[in-house]
Formats: sequence, C-alpha cells, structure tokens
Amino acid sequence: MAGEIVDPVEMLRRLVAFDTTSRNSNLALIDYVRDYLAGHGVESKLVPSEDGKKANMFATVGLNVEGGVVLSGHTDVVPVDGQPWDTDPWTLTLKSDGKYYGRGTCDMKAFYAIALAMVPQFLKAGLRKPIHFALSYDEEVGCIGAHSLAAAMAREVPRPRAIIIGEPTMMTVVHAHKGVQVYVTKFTGFEAHSSMTHLGVSAIHFAGEFVHYLNTVQDELDRQFPPTSEFTPPAPTFNVGTIVGGTAGNILARECEVLWGYRELPDRPLAALGDRALQWLKEDLLPRMKAKHPAAAIDTEVRSSTVGFSPQGNEDAKALAANWSGSNTVGSVVYGTEAGIFRKTLGVPTVVCGPGDIAQAHQPNEFILASQITACEGFMQRMMEWCRRD
Ligand SMILES: [Zn+2]
Repeated sequence: MAGEIVDPVEMLRRLVAFDTTSRNSNLALIDYVRDYLAGHGVESKLVPSEDGKKANMFATVGLNVEGGVVLSGHTDVVPVDGQPWDTDPWTLTLKSDGKYYGRGTCDMKAFYAIALAMVPQFLKAGLRKPIHFALSYDEEVGCIGAHSLAAAMAREVPRPRAIIIGEPTMMTVVHAHKGVQVYVTKFTGFEAHSSMTHLGVSAIHFAGEFVHYLNTVQDELDRQFPPTSEFTPPAPTFNVGTIVGGTAGNILARECEVLWGYRELPDRPLAALGDRALQWLKEDLLPRMKAKHPAAAIDTEVRSSTVGFSPQGNEDAKALAANWSGSNTVGSVVYGTEAGIFRKTLGVPTVVCGPGDIAQAHQPNEFILASQITACEGFMQRMMEWCRRD
C-alpha cells in the first residue's frame, strides 16, 4: 500500500475494521498506520506497553521543528458485547440517513482517519510548522497509554504550539473537563446461615455502610461548592457504579465488591477526600467488621485515574482551534479525556475538538454524520494552511 492515497471515508472504513476493543491488542491497527505513513515517507515511533501487546505511536509530518500541532487520538474502542447492533460494528456502513455506522466511528477513529487521509496533502503543502500524530492505547480503560506516549513526546518532539485531542465535540472547542478517579473495594465477610448473624459477618451489610458514607461526603461537597461554575453539576460528584456480592437469601454474604469513584474539578483535586474514604474504611469500618469475625477484610485498588483538564493556559490553542473549526463555542465537557495528561506532561496549550457527538459514543449503532466528516476536513484544511505560514 506504499504511497497509496485514500479518502477519509475509506481510511475510516479500514480503521473501523480493526477490532481494537481495549481487551485486544491494537498492534494490527498501529502496524497498518505505520505502513501507510512509511509508504508516504513518514517515519513513526512506537511506545510499547510493558507487556509489548499494545503500543502508542507518534509521527511527525513536515520538519522536525518547534511550533507544530499535535493531533491526538486513542486507538481503542469500548466493547460491543450484548449491544443490539443493526449492522456489523466492524464494517463501516453508510445508510440513507447520512450516517456512517460502526464501532469507533465517533469515539474516535474518524478524527485521525481524516487527518491520516490528508497526509499526502500535508506533504505537498510545504509545511513550515509540523503536524504530529499521537495515537494511544487503552484510553477507554483509564487513559493508560497516554502517560508514556506524552512522556516520550515531551522528550523527543520539538515543543509544539498546540495539542488537539480529537474526541467527539461536534467540532466545538472544549478547554476543560473534570478529573475521574475510580476504585474497586472488595469487602470480605464470613459466611454463616442468615439466622445465625452472630456467627459471621455480611460483606454486603458493611459495603452498604460504605455507600452511605459516600453519600454523606457528597452532601458535604454539595454544601461547600458554589451553585455555578464552569462545570455541570458545579460540585465534584461521587458515584457507586456497581455492587456485586452474595450467594443466597439465607447466607451472610462472604464477598461484596463495590466499584466507586469521583469526578473532581481540575483545580480542586479530591485526593484528600479519596484518602479520607480509604482511611474511614480502614479505621472505622474494618475494626467493626473484625469485631464480628476476625476473617473480615477490606481491600481497595485504583481501577483508573484520569487527570482533570483545567481551562487555564489553553488560550493559544483555543484561539487556533476556534479559527480552524469556525466554532465560537468554547466550553467544558462532562467526560474525561487524555487532554489533562498531555497538557500536564508537555506543558503545551491543549483543547479537545473532534467530529461526532459524545451522545453516540459507547452506544449500539454508534455513528458519525457525513457532515461531521466534512466539517473535520475543513478544520484540517485550515490547520494545514496555518502550518504553511511562518
Ligand atoms: Zn474517546
């Protein structure tokens, strides 16, 4: 496929065909992109995961100089398991409604499919400022790959002027989001017949106390934070996502697993509150469980950690992206992205701006509007023109 030129839709079709669900390797997609770039004479670098089963990739189109633009995207997608899809999720399908269906169309292969398809144009344009590609792995399971990718780029890429994270924003400019911290806490009790509550300890009953504790923390936060802010809702939020435990109606539950976490404002980290919750588990709840039975235990681990994305310091990227997208809307979003990691590690103004609507992300029959592909191509064109100038 060396040197082959493809159009954005064809590139998207090829990228969607790789089942890059986060539990799978993303190497086939990465190899494809690297071959494609190599075919156009563009070198790329890998930043492999520790086990070598996945990799981030970055590449520079144009001169290896300062002042360029980073286009960043994640290669993984969320599972389709159990979802009622009307079409094959791995086959890009255009329907008469002007929508292209397929897993990852909106979240978020379209953004870099469009940019990759334009590489031949970028190369012909005589860019004075480079365009960098940054593709990560395992964004959907806690922004895992982005840390080593951003660190490698901070070392090896001459300081860029702006970073664009192409998550779906309908091509509006997003300059902030909350941080997300997710924990899984496993409560271990001791089984006994439910009539003999003095002989065991129910993991579920104590997990329930923990959920109540988190509710009181939330009430405290709601009282503390002003009713208006950059974010909706304005205060940080705690959530218990899943509770799994117990075996039967007449048994004290031996195990109960609680998936919980919080979303924090980027400038008001909640690590102290998270630590306080862990301390409460250890110093208040656990002793009471152990008093009922010494086998009781509580273990917590961090499931994922997404760095908050503060609006401060992104003005330059905001102005550029607003120009290229033609959008005057600058706002925040409720979901987490890799923006905070890139902003923090490279120290470069960053925005989130990409085609498609987050409402379609993670859904069955995920789609991207053909008109959003056109809008993103316009963005890339104007960015390219800017990169041609001094
Ligand atoms: Zn995404």
